Amino acid sequence: MDVREQLNILGRMGENPSFAGKIREINRFPLMARGIDILQINLGRRCNLSCRHCHVNAGPDRTEIMERPILEKCLQVLETFPIATIDITGGSPEMNPHLEWFITEAARLNRRLIVRSNLTLLCEESYRYFMNVFVQNKVEIVTSLPDYLASKSDRQRGQGSFGKVIAALRELNTRGYGRKDSGLVINIVHNPVGAYLPGSQAALEHEYRERLRTEHGLSFSHLFCITNLPVGRYLDYLMESGNYEDYLRTLWHSFNPDAVDHVMCRTTLSVGWDGSLYDCDFNQMLGLTVNHGAPDNIMNFDMNRLKHREIVINNHCYGCVAGSGSSCQGATTGA
Ligand code: SF4
Ligand code: SF4
Repeated sequence: MDVREQLNILGRMGENPSFAGKIREINRFPLMARGIDILQINLGRRCNLSCRHCHVNAGPDRTEIMERPILEKCLQVLETFPIATIDITGGSPEMNPHLEWFITEAARLNRRLIVRSNLTLLCEESYRYFMNVFVQNKVEIVTSLPDYLASKSDRQRGQGSFGKVIAALRELNTRGYGRKDSGLVINIVHNPVGAYLPGSQAALEHEYRERLRTEHGLSFSHLFCITNLPVGRYLDYLMESGNYEDYLRTLWHSFNPDAVDHVMCRTTLSVGWDGSLYDCDFNQMLGLTVNHGAPDNIMNFDMNRLKHREIVINNHCYGCVAGSGSSCQGATTGA
């Protein structure tokens, strides 16, 4: 489904108010950024997997890759402004040939440095060296494991993917990742395998910790629960399975006004593979660049105009404020 079709579908809300209407009701419209604490850089849409919940529509056939001049500009922005967190994502960031160089340069800036890796690629001989790169540069790893049961996880991410994540986690554990006092952090992302909201993050973290410890002898730092937003391949899945209306209704009924103040776009700026700027990775996949007069490409970066920009919203935003709230760092309201 192309981006225009996705936006048409998202625009249909039946008798429910649009997201803009809903936040107007609670006096939060327009939604404004309050700074840039996280620069999230999407290195491209190539990936060795094709997960069913992927909002990026990433996969082995995608060709979009961030080129070096754009990465250099990202570094220049980071050197100039005290942005606390550098969050590298994809696709599989490891499939971008500039990743090692970029990590080494970014690590010199002494910020929190995150790489979102699906880990399965690290089991391949030609990518194993990234384990060393991550350790040497104290990269914080965020990895997706939709469920601690192999059958459920594989249903979402492809046959055999669970076993590879477990194998990579084991090796990363032996290098110190997820071990107390090592300074090496690995966080796991849980997202529902079907058309429903994640459960309590604290309870699921406890459950994952116990299951991974007792069944595989593994440890990790924290668990993030992320709600699937109706974008990309997940929207295709909702449409094909006839679950779209019900899922949007669930999001709408679970609207949590407290979560509106904590949506990640208020403190994040997302950079696309071609340098385009977005309020978040979801808007990136919907082609909704930053708007309302802020420069929309990193080559024209202007901190003053971007840090107080009005955020571009649509009905997919209900996913960030449903239940306990959801962001790339997990639940936002502590439930
Ligand atoms: S969810 Fe992550 S690992 Fe899966 S296809 Fe998308 S980018 Fe790749
Ligand atoms: S989808 Fe993006 S723009 Fe919408 S609330 Fe979530 S983070 Fe903000």
